[in-house]
Amino acid sequence: MIYRLITQVQEFCSASLKPYSYNVPKNPYIWFGFLWGAQLPVFLLVLTHILQQHKDYSETWALFSTSLQIFCFGYPILLGAIFGILGTIRAEKTFQIQQLITRLQQTSITDPLTGLFNRRHFALIFQDHVSQATRSQKPISILFIDIDDFKNINDNFGHQTGDQVLEQLAAILKDSLRPFDLPVRWGGEEFLLLLPEVSENTAKEIAERLRKKSMEILSAKFCIKITISIGVASYIQQETLQSFVDKADQSLYAAKMLGKNQVVCWSILRDSMP
Ligand code: GH3
Ligand code: MG
Ligand code: MG
Repeated sequence: MIYRLITQVQEFCSASLKPYSYNVPKNPYIWFGFLWGAQLPVFLLVLTHILQQHKDYSETWALFSTSLQIFCFGYPILLGAIFGILGTIRAEKTFQIQQLITRLQQTSITDPLTGLFNRRHFALIFQDHVSQATRSQKPISILFIDIDDFKNINDNFGHQTGDQVLEQLAAILKDSLRPFDLPVRWGGEEFLLLLPEVSENTAKEIAERLRKKSMEILSAKFCIKITISIGVASYIQQETLQSFVDKADQSLYAAKMLGKNQVVCWSILRDSMP
């Protein structure tokens, strides 16, 4: 209780040191305090005026009205200042809470290591992309990317190098995409790219370019051969997010089975199934 009181007094003092606490035209709290405070002096002034009409009281009230005049000015200003400070504290707290909420929202959808969006964000915005694609009758494709033998990189060069490889690959993905493509860190050493308005054939070409580019940049930077495998799938109307991602995941699995460092498309995989 006492601690709360001390904290509030401290807040009050620190707020009163901020010049914009007294930014009268912009601070509604000051005007509220002023108008609130003005009621009593106005009432007293009117009363004094009425009493001064009666001669018997005039001397007493003449004396009183002088200090009353000081009070009349001081009282609303004092209340205005107090409300201004309290209002400023409130506005500042609201601002801080807003900032905290924004930061929490951002953190909850961002992967801290790579700065890419995470799976949760992908699930949230997936439906928007699907609706848009349905309206415009345009395709959507995804690339499911997995670093080959990543465990060996960790085991042989350390977890920190592993992290750097992940960061570097994320940077390559970000650099290689259009502004409205969405790179996501799916988890571990797996990434997913959402490519709106891209057919499976075009997605395969993009995936091939990415595979080669990543291999060149990562291998040169870390002085070891680092490759990636990619599964490609395109969205079919009414399909769920789960089944869409599963198709890309199965294609990725096939790429691994075929010897890694390659791209496999879902349509080709499906046609090759017995
Ligand atoms: P494959 O070619 O079949 O994909 O083999 P892999 O070794 O890449 O895959 P596996 O699933 O066996 O190993 C993935 C490793 O990724 C295991 C895990 O310790 C590591 N890993 C997951 N998340 C991180 C991370 O954030 N940083 C680092 N450095 N390693 C991670
Ligand atoms: Mg892997
Ligand atoms: Mg994996």
